[in-house]
Amino acid sequence: MLTRADCLAADARDPLASFKQQFIIPDGVLYLDGNSLGVQPKTAAARCSEVVSQEWGIGLIRSWNTAGWFEMPGRLGNKLAKLLGANDDEVVVTDTTSLNLFKSLAAAIRIQQQEAPQRRVIVSERDNFPTDLYMIEGMIDLLQQGYELRLTDDTLSLEQALDSDVAVLLLSHVNYRTGAMYDMAATTALAHRHGALVIWDLAHAAGAVPLDLNAAEADFAVGCTYKYLNGGPGAPAFIWVAPRHQDRFWQPLSGWWGHNRPFDMADNYQPAHGIRRFLCGTQPVTSLAMVECGLDVALQADMHAVRAKSLALTDLFIQLVNERCGQHPLTLITPLEHARRGSHVSFRHPQGFAVMQALIARGVIGDYREPEVLRFGITPLYLSHADIWEAVEVLRDILDSGSWDRPEFHQRASVT
Ligand SMILES: *Cc1c(COP(=O)(O)O)cnc(C)c1O
Repeated sequence: MLTRADCLAADARDPLASFKQQFIIPDGVLYLDGNSLGVQPKTAAARCSEVVSQEWGIGLIRSWNTAGWFEMPGRLGNKLAKLLGANDDEVVVTDTTSLNLFKSLAAAIRIQQQEAPQRRVIVSERDNFPTDLYMIEGMIDLLQQGYELRLTDDTLSLEQALDSDVAVLLLSHVNYRTGAMYDMAATTALAHRHGALVIWDLAHAAGAVPLDLNAAEADFAVGCTYKYLNGGPGAPAFIWVAPRHQDRFWQPLSGWWGHNRPFDMADNYQPAHGIRRFLCGTQPVTSLAMVECGLDVALQADMHAVRAKSLALTDLFIQLVNERCGQHPLTLITPLEHARRGSHVSFRHPQGFAVMQALIARGVIGDYREPEVLRFGITPLYLSHADIWEAVEVLRDILDSGSWDRPEFHQRASVT
């Protein structure tokens, strides 16, 4: 049986322990939801105030040049690229993940229309994050050309779903509900063997697991900065396009920010060369500045140390729940195999919603996902082994005492 002393000993050996100092963690909170909305870097408030008071307040319109506002999507993209296994000029930080899914999907479909127009199937996973599936549905409806969505599930494996009709494969690298992770290189190679292009949604992967988009020969990738990258609520997302595809087509949200010379104010669209054509309109400067605060912390950490600690903490969490809450009806739905696990852990419990509300009331903040899923994000930069111990102790107490069954814990708010 593991003890709290074992956890403290592991913390004493933790090379990432000091990173916690760089974030604001409220007193009395054990934050296990950094996979949904990351915590605030300590530099963020001052940087925000600088943008608002100086750059906007005093610099006004001049700041597009003098404060580097215009270059921000690409400059931050270059920083983020280091965490994605990408190079300079391959990533922009912009728009939302949903919008970037639309742009990448449109570009991938255009390439296939040129090269293999008979391919009319888009493959994804029934268990994918809903917005990914909804955006594919919207694209199919917009195109009106007989495209169809084919979903893998318990009855249709990926191997079975891929054939010579498939234009695009769109998958989440780490599943938002279960934490299950694909082998990016092997899955990309499998899709390529069938002639499909691959879009990876890295929402639960960027900043959480080591990534190498170029080594995997992926085609497109999108993802969030407000989860493991701590960019703040609603922070702009990112899009990566393999250099071999960047200049092939422009994307259909061809706003002036993607124009080759936006300030020529020309009456026709000429796409910028490279990744800039994946921009659409004026960027949210204040939010972008917050993204940079999160990136600057993440870039100080060795991603392999982050991964090692993530696996150690997720293993610890699973083992402690088994040892200390074993008599309760909790079912682990996260893969035990390290190579198949991202950085969160999920359990089903028949009263999952109420149990999570009871945890949150005690300061252990995770989240609830349908159906019956308790989801715990494990963020190595600001969680310790002792934090995991405390969180499991609170879970044990709530389950042993049955305190989750109070009426207020069954009330549903609009965001779970
Ligand atoms: C969180 C998440 C999103 C969110 O998309 P938004 O456009 O930022 O709301 C998309 N895809 C996946 C897989 C996610 O986990």
